[in-house]
Amino acid sequence: MRRFVVFVFLSLLIPAFAAGQTPHRTAIRAGKVIDGKSDKPIENAVIVVEGDKIVSVSSGGSAPAGAEVIDLSKATVLPGFIDVHTHVLLQGDVTAAEYDEQLLKESIPYRAILAARNAQVALSHGFTAMRDLETEGAMYADVDVKTAIANGEVPGPRMQVATRAMTPTGMYPLLGYSWELKVPTGVQYVDGVDGARKTVREQVMYGADWIKYYSDRRYHFEADGVLHSMVNFTDEEAKAIVDEAHRIGKKVAAHAIGSDGIAAALRAGVDTIEHGDGLTNALMDEMVRKGVYWVPTLTVGLYVAPGRGGNWQKMADLQKENFAKAVQKGVKVALGTDAGGFDWKKVNQAKEFEYYVQYGMTPMQAIRTGTTVAAELLGWSDKAGTVETGKWADLVAVSGDPLKDITELQRVKFVMKGGAVYKNELH
Ligand SMILES: [Zn+2]
Repeated sequence: MRRFVVFVFLSLLIPAFAAGQTPHRTAIRAGKVIDGKSDKPIENAVIVVEGDKIVSVSSGGSAPAGAEVIDLSKATVLPGFIDVHTHVLLQGDVTAAEYDEQLLKESIPYRAILAARNAQVALSHGFTAMRDLETEGAMYADVDVKTAIANGEVPGPRMQVATRAMTPTGMYPLLGYSWELKVPTGVQYVDGVDGARKTVREQVMYGADWIKYYSDRRYHFEADGVLHSMVNFTDEEAKAIVDEAHRIGKKVAAHAIGSDGIAAALRAGVDTIEHGDGLTNALMDEMVRKGVYWVPTLTVGLYVAPGRGGNWQKMADLQKENFAKAVQKGVKVALGTDAGGFDWKKVNQAKEFEYYVQYGMTPMQAIRTGTTVAAELLGWSDKAGTVETGKWADLVAVSGDPLKDITELQRVKFVMKGGAVYKNELH
């Protein structure tokens, strides 16, 4: 396989060098650039792109001779957006029935076709990179979606994928069917320390960039006012998952909603806490100390609350309270939506930016959660997340000013990924 990849690269590169051609050059004139780094936008900038990379960003510069010019002089250009919590293989699951139906009635090939469609939707909304956090019963199909995008077969964001995720036996759907039936499971069941290590190895063998496990379930408020939960794995099992993943160079995301689940995940040494509704002051402090990221997924919480009833609205309210506290304490917040937990066609993932501003961030802080900070979480700080020389030419543009109206990010008019234009409504 490795040898094959090398041949492909050589065959692509040799003709260009042989003919002595310079790679394709594009100059983008931008009215403003929010580069993901500076506190203020750069006015009247010229961004020069060569091949798939940015080679210069200058204020008031001119386009180099021979470059193709893209005129975004009335628009604001930003780094491509990054969503670090998605499920391309899921189409919304407000109710358990909606979830079960997808796993029971849709084949994995059909789900993969929808996933390719979802990736295209995400890209058209300005998301040039995503961390897809498990396939919900579709085995390793996320690796195929990622590969098809990377090979240029279908349009979509750059992806890091988690494949199947893990819980101990019986702690994740599908559940409640006759024991006579062999039904699919939304995750891979894993038991014991050896089982944990083996599963990490297996998932990585089949292409997992991240390991994801479910730290808890059964979320409930107790008399202390704290959101509690039942922890899934023993500490020994969770530590084995994290240790094995780290040992072979992979990072770990933990679904953790209740305070008990969050505490267990932090004890195990995970890299990112997903959802985190039940965060307490002490847990936030621990996250700051350990440099663990929080991926709040507010969009899905607010989307499913009315349909699910029960505690879900109270949990969404708690997140609002915790969000402002976490920002104040300096918890690293990375933008994640749980897209797929809501219908990709109905809700634009960029809604998440709007919630962050509603809940207390400045627009600039919110923008960084889905660009700079998200790139750092992915380990791509040297390649993505800012508009800077040497980075991938992953850029979006909006016609208004997102620092005045954050909902502008839900109306992306221009998308470039790796120097290729996928959308331009700003002609
Ligand atoms: Zn999720």
